[in-house]
Amino acid sequence: MDAEAFAAARARAGAASVERLRQVEAAIARAARDSGRDPASVTLVAVSKTYDADSIAPVLAAGHRVFGENYVQEAKGKWPGLREAFPDAEVHLIGPLQSNKARDAVALFDAIQTLDRPSLAQALAKEIARAREAGARVPRLYVQVNTGEEPQKGGVAPGDADAFVAACREAHGLAIEGLMCIPPAEDPPSPHFALLAEIATRNGLSELSMGMSADFGAAIQMGATMVRVGSAIFGARG
Ligand SMILES: *Cc1c(COP(=O)(O)O)cnc(C)c1O
Repeated sequence: MDAEAFAAARARAGAASVERLRQVEAAIARAARDSGRDPASVTLVAVSKTYDADSIAPVLAAGHRVFGENYVQEAKGKWPGLREAFPDAEVHLIGPLQSNKARDAVALFDAIQTLDRPSLAQALAKEIARAREAGARVPRLYVQVNTGEEPQKGGVAPGDADAFVAACREAHGLAIEGLMCIPPAEDPPSPHFALLAEIATRNGLSELSMGMSADFGAAIQMGATMVRVGSAIFGARG
């Protein structure tokens, strides 16, 4: 493909993403209204993992501002440039975080949704204190709960969630904004969303990050305040 054809294909892909973004926004608003909720109470996190900066830029240019990324290295490569062009963009880490990447993650992300173990709480507390001292903004934090208790998945077990949230707050001095979950792919998601909502309520947390391309409607019905939608906006990941 020559450069001109490549640019044209890029533009078409960008326009298609923006069109799908509008459809997802409309579906979110419908799901919220159907549940008697204000559509503005649900934030759409556009999950841009595996998509490069040129694929993300049209969605930013169309006015969308909240994005999700799974990998520190990948985000480090593409977001500094995008942020220069769109300083009010907000990027959330929604993938597992190694404690030795806590410093990078604190510097890069506006929210970290995958806090799930004491060693990570400790590492984040240290880096957040350091960032505060330097006058830098610090990320909001979500505790990930492994509602399906899947061994390969991150997140605290539902039975450990109350104690972990308390430890984050009391032992590590961390403000927790909400909870996040990724239900097992083979389960109906609603019971998992209901469980997350229940854990949040009894811990005094009002923010719930739950629901992806296939099930954000159900998540909104169960009280999601944040849905994380990737493929329904950017297309199937290669
Ligand atoms: C990839 C991913 C999403 C988005 O998934 P889609 O099915 O593409 O909408 C949401 N949340 C997490 C944690 C993810 O890793």
